[in-house]
Amino acid sequence: MKKGWRKEILQILGILTCAYFLIMCLMAMQLHVQHRNIDFFYEDQDHEHIHFSHTSGYCYKGPSIAQIARQNANFSTEQSIESRILGSCTMPVSSADVEMDALWRTLDVSYPLALSVGGWLDVVQVYSWVTKPLTVIIVPHSHQDPGWLFTYEYYFETYSNRIINLMVEQLTKNPAWRFVWSEVCWLEKWWEKASQSQKDSFTRLVRNGQLEIVSGGWVMPDEAVVHYSAMLNQLIDGHQWLMTHVGITPNISWSIDPFGHSPTTAYFNKRSGAKAMVIQRIHFGIKRHLAKINTMEFQWRQIWDSGSKTDIMTHILPFASYAITHSCGPNSHVCCQFDFYQKKCYYGKKSIRSEEINERNVKAKAWLLWEQFQKKSELFRENVLLVPHGDDFRYSDPREWEKQLGNLEKLMAYINSDKEMNTKVRFGTLSEYFTELEKAQTRPFPTFTGDFFPYSDRSDQYWTGFYTSRPHLKYLARRIQSLLRSVEILYAAAVAKANKMSEQLYSLLKLLPDLNVGRQELALFQHHDAITGTSRKTVTENYRERLQHTFSKLKPVYEKVTQIYLEQSLSVTKNHTVTMISDWMSMPLKELRKKLVHISQKRKLVIFNPLGHSRRVVLALMVDKPNVKVTNSSTTLTIPHQISPVWEKAGFIEDLYELSFEVNLPALSLSEVTVEKGEATQNTRLVFYTQPDTFFMNITLPGINIYQENSPYFSVSNGYLTAYFYTCNGRLQYVHYKSTGHLWRSEVKVVTYTSGKTWSTMFKDKGGAYTFVPDGPAETLSEPVDALFLIDGPLFSRVVTVQPTITQTVTIYKTHSNMAKGVHIENKVNMQKLDNTELMMRVESDIGESRAEMCVDLNGFQVKKY
Ligand SMILES: [Zn+2]
Repeated sequence: MKKGWRKEILQILGILTCAYFLIMCLMAMQLHVQHRNIDFFYEDQDHEHIHFSHTSGYCYKGPSIAQIARQNANFSTEQSIESRILGSCTMPVSSADVEMDALWRTLDVSYPLALSVGGWLDVVQVYSWVTKPLTVIIVPHSHQDPGWLFTYEYYFETYSNRIINLMVEQLTKNPAWRFVWSEVCWLEKWWEKASQSQKDSFTRLVRNGQLEIVSGGWVMPDEAVVHYSAMLNQLIDGHQWLMTHVGITPNISWSIDPFGHSPTTAYFNKRSGAKAMVIQRIHFGIKRHLAKINTMEFQWRQIWDSGSKTDIMTHILPFASYAITHSCGPNSHVCCQFDFYQKKCYYGKKSIRSEEINERNVKAKAWLLWEQFQKKSELFRENVLLVPHGDDFRYSDPREWEKQLGNLEKLMAYINSDKEMNTKVRFGTLSEYFTELEKAQTRPFPTFTGDFFPYSDRSDQYWTGFYTSRPHLKYLARRIQSLLRSVEILYAAAVAKANKMSEQLYSLLKLLPDLNVGRQELALFQHHDAITGTSRKTVTENYRERLQHTFSKLKPVYEKVTQIYLEQSLSVTKNHTVTMISDWMSMPLKELRKKLVHISQKRKLVIFNPLGHSRRVVLALMVDKPNVKVTNSSTTLTIPHQISPVWEKAGFIEDLYELSFEVNLPALSLSEVTVEKGEATQNTRLVFYTQPDTFFMNITLPGINIYQENSPYFSVSNGYLTAYFYTCNGRLQYVHYKSTGHLWRSEVKVVTYTSGKTWSTMFKDKGGAYTFVPDGPAETLSEPVDALFLIDGPLFSRVVTVQPTITQTVTIYKTHSNMAKGVHIENKVNMQKLDNTELMMRVESDIGESRAEMCVDLNGFQVKKY
């Protein structure tokens, strides 16, 4: 298979993969596999508390659904597994010296018990070492989070602005000093305030190699929960800023704080011209193993690469963190003495003061440091050593520059002059390190394929909690990303079509600043403490406001650009207004009403498909009457539609209906549909499965036929499948595939995990924004069913189960598109009721081990099969 189109196939497969259970959750999800159960889970946002009584049980006695379904389905077990939709994941074609998927099967993840309770230790130890000639490059750096404990703005005013000022001043004064800087979002802010002479000095320092911009993304993005397009956009924006203002493109990547590392980042680094990258946070068991086999530096290869074109040189910082304490060598109590601006340094409980280097102590201190260098170099293949020297928001005071780099200079001078040490040490940038490494290289570096997820730094502290922390913000960011893509495509097309010096072009150019706000804010949110949800609550609130502000900037741009494009392309006259129908920025009833389309007058809907492939989809909008006609504006042919009642809190909303219709959208197209008043169709059934004495019996809804049923189970069907549900809890139980005859148990459960509540886990760390540390197995969420009903029309059948905490809708489409091949499940969760609780949706299936395949995506860019 040619590599060029393999990537596309991987992405298409990403869509097919979902076809068995196309799970469309409103909140962010995390996949978690336990035996044959698949959990999709949420984390509470505000850490309030809720208790649920646990009731388990089988809620229907009698012939099982399976028995009945098998009779109905003429069930056959002989059909080949290949015919199942899930069988279409691809197999990797690359080979490498270390393959992560294979390594997981044998990886030792044991952690010393005594230390797993109250603290952690460096799992990478050096037990023996030999003296060797060494070249050591010390790389001063300062890690800048654009939002974590404080907001981005606060950090800039308090630290980052000063740090960049000092960086320029100190490097200019000391030509031997070096520094590396990563995030461009700070540079852009600083540039606004800096004097021309500061800017000139900055540029000169970058050009003469004293200051190196590493990665050069807008931020240092998270690598687990970000979508590849946002990852790429923040890299493009950072690089464009650097090219415009400084005239350079970074060629080394520096990603030292994201919670696990993705091969997607490695691929983008390679394609952006980087020659090497440095990473830090990988599972302690993997780090220990790679240290043992002397593979802390390797060529990271993409899993689809049958050759070596995607290989990128990768260096893992070997110890627990990127701080100075864990950088000079394996002994943190020694290294922390060389942090000359630290507040705490301990050897056990004994506090050690870091001393100024002087003639009296320089020899002893130099030998101490030299020994750490020698020990650390045992972990690497060549006699060149990288020693970062920095930490979070460091170097914000001139005294720190003088103490850190001044004292190191004295130590370096001693080491360089002592022949017995046989070591050359100097300040350098990452480029200088990799250049030295290239010069010293004696043999090829090993190759590696795979990813570094999940991350764990000690014991069972798996950093998978952040996959679902602050799900609403994750959701908003994805929607804004989608909106931004649409706006940018139409904007580019409209500018290309506009005549020079025309009024249209002038209007478009006026919109550019708001479009840039959208790009930069979305880029900022990819930061590894933003989209992850690991910032403080106040900082999270700040991100939410920024995203809302971004939406308010982009919405009018979208409307205006669409209007101009329609004038250009479809000869629509100027006397019209384009209003974006958004159902996602907020969902309360009053907002639904605002977005209501009154059909007393004829309405034209413009539907934009921003994707590079055609789509056949069912769309929905709110209308005020059930008697509607939908037509294709260009062919004037009638489009079949469905009218559904709208549920809100405890009943159906009067004078509000969901209008659904199916459209075929060519790639990158604008399509027009007309909605107007028509004949009442009466083609939707509303079936209640709740008890007959409820108030639902008495309601009437114009245009909807209402029924009551009392059977213990029920089913819904389309041309591809039949789905079976229990009436007692409204949950999906079985899915029968008509083409293969397979009937799979597909039992959907909603379960909860708690953390830090049982005796056995009382003294361990609780799970939180970062980690998922459950007390034990999950318990079924058992709540009364307030309402259970089926909306059944010509386009889809939808089962809605309303409970106090969760409203679940299961939809089966009756169309001929891919949408009909799966079961769509959507959950709306009342998160205010949940505290210290992980809420999950689990699907229990009887698909056998030999037949089970599960595919998950990585940044929406590649698919992995398990
Ligand atoms: Zn950070």
